[in-house]
Amino acid sequence: MPIRPLPREHGDIATSNAALIAGKPRPERLRITEIFHSIQGEADAAGWPTVFVRLTGCPLRCTWCDTAYAFHGGTWWTIDAILADVARHGARHICVTGGEPLAQKRCLMLLTRLCDAGYEVSLETSGAIDVGAVDARVRKVLDLKAPGSGEDARNRWDNLRFLSPSDQVKFVLAGRADYEWARDVVGRHRLGQRCMVLFSPVHGSLDPRDLAEWILADRLPVRFQLQLHKILWGEESGH
Ligand code: SF4
Repeated sequence: MPIRPLPREHGDIATSNAALIAGKPRPERLRITEIFHSIQGEADAAGWPTVFVRLTGCPLRCTWCDTAYAFHGGTWWTIDAILADVARHGARHICVTGGEPLAQKRCLMLLTRLCDAGYEVSLETSGAIDVGAVDARVRKVLDLKAPGSGEDARNRWDNLRFLSPSDQVKFVLAGRADYEWARDVVGRHRLGQRCMVLFSPVHGSLDPRDLAEWILADRLPVRFQLQLHKILWGEESGH
């Protein structure tokens, strides 16, 4: 599915001008890279038709990042316009992702508005930003960055206390050293007893079969996953 070009200041100019004339505050806006309908390729909701709302910007630079196109650019959307665009796809599952979506403070408002509208909402976050204020109805998918990412110093360990049983912790692993690091973290924080834990190989860096065999050999309480959307569509954008 091709990415639709987003109009600048989508859904906002007329509303903003009217609001200014009326002396009202500007409507809340977020910078968005893309909104698209696809199959969820990861985590607990894998396989569900899902609308993805990709927010622009990320303060991290993981070595294996596959969404660097979301670091810059994007267009401003009002939260009302985002909800209207999401609704036209008719999906029950919505995934708010990035970039790092929580890098924009108004992401919290968007999450609550999506929950209020009755959607099943998930949030993909790097784990480097406080998740304490995320709406409790949102399923958090919290990345913990292994050393191979180059960003392990950014892990905000305090976030682990906000995990609920419906949340997930994800490790993307580039090799054996990352695997051993993740295995130690899972054991030390008893993550397997607290929520679902996901282990994924970095594409082209760690053989998925090796990772599967290590998990079995160590009898880890974690779920192996491959990115379904990459199996279906490769690196094609818009998925
Ligand atoms: S946190 Fe996510 S978006 Fe940001 S650099 Fe890492 S993989 Fe890319």
